[in-house]
Amino acid sequence: MPVRLGQPGRSTDERQEQSGDMDQQLEGILILQDLDLMIAEAADRRAASRLAQLGFHVDRLDRLRAARTQATDRLSPETLRLYERLSRRYSHRVVAVQSETCLGCFVTQPTGFSCEGNSSLHTCQSCGRILFW
Ligand SMILES: [Zn+2]
Repeated sequence: MPVRLGQPGRSTDERQEQSGDMDQQLEGILILQDLDLMIAEAADRRAASRLAQLGFHVDRLDRLRAARTQATDRLSPETLRLYERLSRRYSHRVVAVQSETCLGCFVTQPTGFSCEGNSSLHTCQSCGRILFW
């Protein structure tokens, strides 16, 4: 069920609890995106050797994959489904909003944001990416 902050009839505690859950899902999905980008980089041998030359140590692939599994366990099934669906189209599934503009597709968002399915996350009206501020 989408979170509707400021809905009448709800206690402040209940709103804070749901808001906290939304933040947790967003935080989890940002961690998952970072891990996926690191896994893609570690799996790309040329990129990995370039990073090693620059002094960055690319963690072993199996450790990154284990961390990814832990990250997916923290997400709700709806959030994970949305993320996996976006993964088929975009390398960056979660993007920032700046000046009401999605930094994934650069389309200005209308004042009312949509929530994807049962997820409490905000998505871009144009490209569907998950948005954060
Ligand atoms: Zn967008």
